[in-house]
Amino acid sequence: MDVFDQATELERMERELAVKKAVAGDNFSEGPEWIDGVPCCRDCGEPIPAARLKAIPGAGRCCACQQEWERQRKAWK
Ligand SMILES: [Zn+2]
Repeated sequence: MDVFDQATELERMERELAVKKAVAGDNFSEGPEWIDGVPCCRDCGEPIPAARLKAIPGAGRCCACQQEWERQRKAWK
């Protein structure tokens, strides 16, 4: 492997890591806000339904806020 190949490999690994972080960050990095032992939405403070947490472990927002958040995220891109 010459120097050029090594640089390319490093670049590829860094890019993969960035993608993994971005994907994980969308749903799992933040988690809910715990209020009195109840997982609540980070944006509106409403309790997150148990069914939603079961479907998306670590969900940090209720359905409505998650949709709004994703909509805004798309608008930024
Ligand atoms: Zn909410």
